Amino acid sequence: MAEETRTRMLVTHARLATLGKDPILVEDGALLIEDDHIAALGTTADLASQYHAAERWDADGQLVLPASMCAHTHYYGAFARGMAIPGEPASNFPQILERLWWRLDKALTLEDVRYSTLVCLVDAIRHGTTTLIDHHASPNSIEGSLDVIAEAVQEAGLRSCLCYEVTDRDGPERARAGIAENVRFARSQISNPDPQLAATFGLHASLTLSDGTLADCVAAAGELGLGFHVHVAEDGADQEDSLRRSGKRVVHRLHDAGILGPRTLAIHCVHVDEGEIDLLAQTDTWATHQPRSNMNNGVGVAPVEAMLQAGVNVGLGNDGFSNQMFAEMKAAYLVHKLWQHDPRAMPGDLVMRLAYANNSRLARVFWPDAGLGALREGATADLVFLDYHPTTPLTAGNLPWHLLFGVEASAVTATVCAGRVLMRDRQLLTLDEEAITARSRELATQAWERL
Ligand SMILES: [Zn+2]
Repeated sequence: MAEETRTRMLVTHARLATLGKDPILVEDGALLIEDDHIAALGTTADLASQYHAAERWDADGQLVLPASMCAHTHYYGAFARGMAIPGEPASNFPQILERLWWRLDKALTLEDVRYSTLVCLVDAIRHGTTTLIDHHASPNSIEGSLDVIAEAVQEAGLRSCLCYEVTDRDGPERARAGIAENVRFARSQISNPDPQLAATFGLHASLTLSDGTLADCVAAAGELGLGFHVHVAEDGADQEDSLRRSGKRVVHRLHDAGILGPRTLAIHCVHVDEGEIDLLAQTDTWATHQPRSNMNNGVGVAPVEAMLQAGVNVGLGNDGFSNQMFAEMKAAYLVHKLWQHDPRAMPGDLVMRLAYANNSRLARVFWPDAGLGALREGATADLVFLDYHPTTPLTAGNLPWHLLFGVEASAVTATVCAGRVLMRDRQLLTLDEEAITARSRELATQAWERL
């Protein structure tokens, strides 16, 4: 089946927004997809006369963009939707962890892991998000969990970097099992690599990791050349804990433990001070921003502009919220203005920098050869088609504000990942959404009962 869709295909009559360096908007544009990459890009008139034999796909004036990327997500969180948490509502972030996430993750079986992943992947394809960096936890089903997720990613035809979150909160045996799962999966990717999968080393957060466990993780990851994927200063509680444990703030503690570096992702960084921002910049550590999650947990807003100014690489993730990255972009655009009482904060082009330029550079950490986040000859063919026909002029220059104010989730009609069509005319081609939904509902009911 893959072969049919991986042959040469000419997309015609599209409005192409190339993004990337020197972005342009090509009216009545065309793209030649060959195998997994874009082989040619131009106007329909030019390309249609050059490539007679190519299979045609008439985009009928739709806006075609590079597909979205997500710098941080949790597939395992899918079963939380609509779940009632017994007792008083959580009044702070540690209570949210204890009452919601650390109860849900313990309830998950490997089949739950598979279906919560599939649910998220359906959502990703539906919303044109093709590259996702996942952070997984299922303390009662650790061994093999990353394989289960990897298989679902392969079925979907998406691209994902996986890790298991090591933590001391479930005891030393499970901490060791978490380390082993990261190592096992990373080794499997070395011996039997899949170009659309990658591995990194997962850590929950400083507040649930002892110095001893951090040292074990550094030793295990070092042998495999892996960086880390870790929540950093998401809430003030992480800083208080770190100062109590070590006398150091979180970023300094993690740096001294050997965690930071250009292959490491520091998630959130809401409560980092100037010294920590400098240290993230000096070590070329990645930070990622998840504004919907931060708003939902009431933890504050990350100093994203200060981090960018200091030279920190900052990407955009969703932390398990919908895989509709246009919604995350809108949240980023809005929340900094409100937080700073300044409508100049976080301008649209800066949001685009996080979502496309920075996320594509982050993707290169795991897929060095994948040119993502821009349409150009030789780039990987990861595309999203938007049935978007604006009532005002659209240019390469004002595209950010069209995406922020005009585009809604319902506009996405097609998704292509590495040249393979995963959704066309809103029909999913790789996953059976109805069957996934039905089984997921059964499993989620049982998981809720186990809580
Ligand atoms: Zn997270």
